[in-house]
Amino acid sequence: MSKYDIIVLGSGPGGYVTAIRASQLGFKTAIVEKESLGGVCLNWGCIPTKALLKSAEVFDYLKHAEDYGLSLENPDKDFSKVIKRSRDVAAGMSKGVQFLMKKNKIDVIEGFGKLKSGKKIAVTDKDDKTKEYQADNIIVATGARSRELPNLKQDGKKVIGYREAMSLEKQPKSMIVVGSGAIGVEFAHFYNAMGTEVTVVEFLPNVVPLEDEEISKQFERSLKKAGIKVMTNSSVESVDTSGKKVKAKVKTKKGEENLEADIVLSAVGIKTNIENIGLEDLKIKTDKDKIVVDDFYKTNVDGIYAIGDVVHGPALAHVASAEGILCVEKIKGMDVEPLDYGNIPGCTYATPEIASVGMTEKQAKEAGYELKVGKFPFSASGKAKAAGKSEGFVKVIFDAKYGEWLGCHMIGAGVTDMIAEAVLGRKLETTGHEVLKAVHPHPTMSEAVMEAVAAAYDEVIHI
Ligand SMILES: Cc1cc2nc3c(=O)[nH]c(=O)nc-3n(C[C@H](O)[C@H](O)[C@H](O)COP(=O)(O)OP(=O)(O)OC[C@H]3O[C@@H](n4cnc5c(N)ncnc54)[C@H](O)[C@@H]3O)c2cc1C
Repeated sequence: MSKYDIIVLGSGPGGYVTAIRASQLGFKTAIVEKESLGGVCLNWGCIPTKALLKSAEVFDYLKHAEDYGLSLENPDKDFSKVIKRSRDVAAGMSKGVQFLMKKNKIDVIEGFGKLKSGKKIAVTDKDDKTKEYQADNIIVATGARSRELPNLKQDGKKVIGYREAMSLEKQPKSMIVVGSGAIGVEFAHFYNAMGTEVTVVEFLPNVVPLEDEEISKQFERSLKKAGIKVMTNSSVESVDTSGKKVKAKVKTKKGEENLEADIVLSAVGIKTNIENIGLEDLKIKTDKDKIVVDDFYKTNVDGIYAIGDVVHGPALAHVASAEGILCVEKIKGMDVEPLDYGNIPGCTYATPEIASVGMTEKQAKEAGYELKVGKFPFSASGKAKAAGKSEGFVKVIFDAKYGEWLGCHMIGAGVTDMIAEAVLGRKLETTGHEVLKAVHPHPTMSEAVMEAVAAAYDEVIHI
C-alpha cells in the first residue's frame, strides 16, 4: 500500500493549493480527484463564468461602439463559440493544475475516494478497481454542487443548474433565474447581454442580499436599466415542464404570478459533497451539511481535516485556498493564526461589478459603532468618465472613535480588482487618515477609494 504524509481528497482551489503548500513544506503528498483537476472553480465556477462574462462585455462594447466615436455595422455573436471559448479556458486552467502537480511532485490519484479507518483512503477508478492508500494526515476538500429545491428539481434541460447554464448548446430565448446571489446575477447578466429575455426571482427583499443595502438598491436599478425583469420578495412555488416552455408559479407580495420561459436556472446555493465519503463510518461530526472543524480545520477524528466548501464559512475559492494553506502549516507545526473571516472579500462579476469586505453599514450600526461613512460616485471620477463607465460608487465605513476601517463596499466597473486595497488596509489596521494620505495614482478608478475616505472625513475634493 502506498503511504503518504498527506493525502488531499478533492482537487478544487482548496485541495490543489493545499497539496502544493504541503509539498513545499516537505510532505510527501498525493491528491485524489474523481473528475477534472481544479474542481468547480476552474472547471465549472469562477473561471468559465468570467470567460462568458468577458464575451458579454466585449459584445456590449461592440454594440455601443458609437458611444466611443467608432462605427460597426450589426455586431453579432455566435453563442456556441462563446460557450466553446469558456470551455477552452477552463480546460486550459485544468491542464495548468496538472503541470503544477507534476512540478511539485504531487501524486495524482484518479478516482472516487472514500475514507477508511486507520487513516486510509480507498480510491475506486473508472474501471471500478479499488486501491487503498494510507497517510498520516488526510484533508477532505470535496467541495459542493448546485443545491436542488424540492419544488425546483433540476432535469438538466428545462430546469438547470450552473453546469448546464455554462454549457448550453442553444441560447434560450427566455430564462427565469431563481436566486440573485453572485452566481444567479452573473448568469442573468450574461444571458441578458447575449439577448435572452431574463427574469430574476429573489425570495428576499433585496437582490444580492448579502451586500450593503445601498449597493443592492443601485444594483437592482442597473439590472432593470439593462432590461432584466427583477422580482424581489418573490418565490417560485412550482414549475411545470410538460409543455414546450417551462411554466413557473411565482408567489409575490401582490399575489400569484405565472411566468413562462424556455429555461429556469436554479441558483439557490450549494449542497456539499459529503455523502458516501466515509464520514459516518469514521463518526466524523457534521452540522447542517458541513463538516465540523476547529480553528485549524481538524475534525473530531485524529489525523482527518476538512477545508473549503465542505466546512462552515463563505463558499469562495480564495477562502478554500487560504484554509488549506493554514491547515497544512499548522500540521507542520508552524506558529500560525486562525483565518480572519471578518476580512474576506466577496465579489460579483456582473455589470456593474460589486466588491465588498467587512461590515455593511447596517451590521456596523447593529454592532454598536458610531460611524463615519463616506461615499464617492464614479460619475465624479475622470477615469470612469473617460472609460464611459460612470455608474456606481465606493462606500467606506469607519469607526468614528478610533478610525478603524470597518467596511468597504463598491459597485462599478473594475471594482473587483480594487477591493484588495481595503482588504490589505484592514489587515494592516489602517485608519482612514492613513488611506487619505496615501497618494493614489491619477487618473484611476482607485482614486474613488481615497475620495470616499476623504468624504467620510469631510475633506472630499471632487464632489
Ligand atoms: C458558477 C459559479 C461561479 C463561482 N464563481 C466564484 C468566484 O468568482 N469567486 C469565488 O471565490 N468563488 C466562486 N465560486 C465558488 C467556488 O467555485 C468554490 O467556493 C470553490 O470551488 C470551492 O473549492 P473547494 O476546493 O472547496 O471545492 P471544489 O472546487 O468543489 O472541488 C472539489 C473537488 O473534489 C472532487 N471530489 C468530490 N468528491 C470526491 C471524491 N469522493 N473523490 C475524489 N474527488 C472528489 C470534485 O470532483 C471536485 O473536483 C463559484 C461557484 C460557482 C458554482
